[in-house]
Amino acid sequence: MSELVTVRYLCIGCPLGCRLEVDEAPETHAIVEVRGFSCRRGKEYAIQEHTAPQRTVTTTVAIDHARWARLPVRSDRPAPKEMVLTICHALRHVRVTAPVKMGDVIAANVAGSGVNMIATRDMPGQ
Ligand code: SF4
Repeated sequence: MSELVTVRYLCIGCPLGCRLEVDEAPETHAIVEVRGFSCRRGKEYAIQEHTAPQRTVTTTVAIDHARWARLPVRSDRPAPKEMVLTICHALRHVRVTAPVKMGDVIAANVAGSGVNMIATRDMPGQ
C-alpha cells in the first residue's frame, strides 16, 4: 500500500483556528483519518472542505434609481466552490431597480447552482 497523503486546512468555524489534517488513501482518495479538530464542527468542516468545498458568495450588482450605483448581495447558502466564478459572471448581467429591502431575492438559482442571491442592505429609491 502507498503512503497516505496528508492535506492541511485551517478551520474557520471559530476564532481558535484549529489546524486540521486529513489523511487520504492516494489510490481511492478515501479519507482515512481527520486530526487537529477541537470539536465536531471542525471535523465536519475538514471533511466538507476536502470532499466538496463550498463558499458563501458576496458581491454587488447594478442598481438603478438608488443613491448608490451598486447593491451589495450574498448567496443565501454556500455554493460549490467551483461554481463561484460562474455565479459572479452571471451576476454581471443582473440589474435591479430601487427600492430594495434587505433580504430580497435579487437573483434565483443563479447559473443553475441552486443558490439565490439576496440583498444585504436596504436601498431606497430616489
Ligand atoms: S475545530 Fe472547533 S474549536 Fe477548532 S477552530 Fe474549528 S470550530 Fe473552532
